[in-house]
Amino acid sequence: MEGRERVGGRVLTDRETFSRPIDLGASIITGIAADVNKGRRFDPSSTIFQQLGLKTKELEGECPIFDAVKRAKISKEMDRKIAGVFDGILDMCTNKALAFKAASGGKGVGKENFGDTVKELFESERALQEGDGEKVEDKQGAADEGGEEVVTSLRQLTEEDLRVLRWHYAHTEYGCSARLNEISLEHWNQDESEDGAGFGGPHVMVPGGYSRAMESLSDGLHVRTKACVKGIKYGDGKVEVTCSNPDDEGDECIVADSVVVTVPLGCLKRKKIEFDPPLPDWKQECIDRLGYGNLNKVVLEFKEEDDGNVFWEQGSNSVGDVMMFGMTSESESTCGRFFMFWNMKKVCGSPILIGLLAGEAAYEAEQEDNKLVPQAMGVLRNLFHDVTVPEPVSCRVTSWLSDEFSHGSYSFVAAGASGDDYDTLALPVSSLVHFAGEHTWRKNPDTVGGAMLSGIREAQSILRMFSRDVATVVDDMMFTLDASKDLEEGEEEEGDGWEEEEEDIPKVENPKFKGEKKAKKQKPRQQKIVGTVPYLSNADHAQAKEEIRNVYTYFEMRKGSEDFAELMGSLKSLDGKRAFVKQCIARGDKTNYLGALKEKHLGLLNSWILEFADAPLCTDFICDFIRLL
Ligand SMILES: Cc1cc2nc3c(=O)[nH]c(=O)nc-3n(C[C@H](O)[C@H](O)[C@H](O)COP(=O)(O)OP(=O)(O)OC[C@H]3O[C@@H](n4cnc5c(N)ncnc54)[C@H](O)[C@@H]3O)c2cc1C
Repeated sequence: MEGRERVGGRVLTDRETFSRPIDLGASIITGIAADVNKGRRFDPSSTIFQQLGLKTKELEGECPIFDAVKRAKISKEMDRKIAGVFDGILDMCTNKALAFKAASGGKGVGKENFGDTVKELFESERALQEGDGEKVEDKQGAADEGGEEVVTSLRQLTEEDLRVLRWHYAHTEYGCSARLNEISLEHWNQDESEDGAGFGGPHVMVPGGYSRAMESLSDGLHVRTKACVKGIKYGDGKVEVTCSNPDDEGDECIVADSVVVTVPLGCLKRKKIEFDPPLPDWKQECIDRLGYGNLNKVVLEFKEEDDGNVFWEQGSNSVGDVMMFGMTSESESTCGRFFMFWNMKKVCGSPILIGLLAGEAAYEAEQEDNKLVPQAMGVLRNLFHDVTVPEPVSCRVTSWLSDEFSHGSYSFVAAGASGDDYDTLALPVSSLVHFAGEHTWRKNPDTVGGAMLSGIREAQSILRMFSRDVATVVDDMMFTLDASKDLEEGEEEEGDGWEEEEEDIPKVENPKFKGEKKAKKQKPRQQKIVGTVPYLSNADHAQAKEEIRNVYTYFEMRKGSEDFAELMGSLKSLDGKRAFVKQCIARGDKTNYLGALKEKHLGLLNSWILEFADAPLCTDFICDFIRLL
């Protein structure tokens, strides 16, 4: 179910406004070759372009930076020097984050943000120059954290140096699609620094437009467009999805075995979908904690001159031979505004420039979108001051924050969050509601490839859940549970009502849980009933089924040694608890699940056995329990 009239989401190629397709959302495949040394895979969307035989264009060459005040390219020396200062600031920030961590005894996640830390660094430097005793001590603190060299180099920075340094801030804001003071000091670059994070190989653009990949993926699938999901009700083994009707005939309800929620984090944050029951606290808190930012583009197409040249290929600041160029800004508050332009003539051959708006500028842009083209033209006329810069013939401005189906650009690790939040966002809520999307893929969030991989992960997990080998085990328990309930209610059908058990059940793609099928029942095998407690109410019965599914999903999703406390704490029914015990036994040999059972878990297991010791029909459970012990 897709709310828009098109597929692709934040991958959006405009094929109408310009002489060539232009990507208004994602446009760069951020790695097309595996990097074995770093354990990095390639972005899977690159495979699709290969399969389609479509051209990609490698991002190559340098990105010269021009100074807005001097209207000239900054020298290579200065470029290197300021890049070095910026690296020093990054190192200092890392050390500071480590110091905060050590001070908290290594516990918790740092709440400090990147922007304020950098600001403090500058303030302490200023205080040192002005002789403010208190702040000088702060400065000493910064130096202790390995920042001495940085502080010394900051003292020597000229106004022009500072403008170039701010360009690096803008570039960081672009990478995270966030303002500097929102980004986690501790984990801001977890998508590159963790083992195997990030994609490998060169970055490329797609001259024919990124949407080609999404369109080819959806080809042959039944995607209902203009079906905006408003509510997801889950429980009792099924999900009811309420969505708008594509023909504007009011809302409709679709019942499913399970769902994968792939709406952007921005939509989850704004609670655009009402979950019933509401998402559990661990999920909602994670949605609130992880960052989700904004990034915008201004696309300008110009008329080529008769000789085929365009203005940026002429004059003293010609950039005709590069794919991108940077611009500093006079003031700190505007440093993300048109800090970079992409020269699309080098990518697709048409005289098109794309200006980027990052950080605060991305947000401001959505309030003043009619001023953006004149502003972009002002920046370009300032830079190419010795040539004639004509008005564009076509232009388009994006506004991803105001887009009701994205509410921003992509996720980032906000202050107080960490990479773990991506993993938590990936976890299902019960076995019914699954989650995918870039914000659920820890190693490559904020990318198209990450979103694709998360979809494959959820597809696999659901297939496994419905496939025979796992389902057989679940079936057995469900069957037993239903059978005991039916017997209890005296729900016999006409005749003897039972069909003979089939020997070889052919493998089908989506075998629903047999126990739920009322039409065809199998004869209950008496010994199976030993071990289930007769449930008094339908609600208890439904909860037991839900818990069994949860246990199986949990063990399917998790691979290593775990803290079982949360799962164990959520199990209230005997059958849920029994499913847990059975899973520990079944998987104990292959993994270190048994090793993960700590004293506190054994205490819980003990309380379970005491709870059920006197309940009827518990022999089976107690046998399992003893086996596990
Ligand atoms: C300006 C910009 C530049 C970017 N640049 C790059 C880049 O160069 N390289 C890169 O790899 N990534 C880039 N990204 C990020 C990339 O676009 C995303 O990471 C990726 O597309 C996310 O895919 P997704 O499936 O998680 O979400 P989406 O693509 O957003 O898909 C979610 C879908 O859910 C639909 N939806 C939302 N709400 C509802 C609802 N209630 N009911 C039904 N449907 C709903 C949406 O319409 C959308 O189709 C960029 C993003 C932006 C905005």
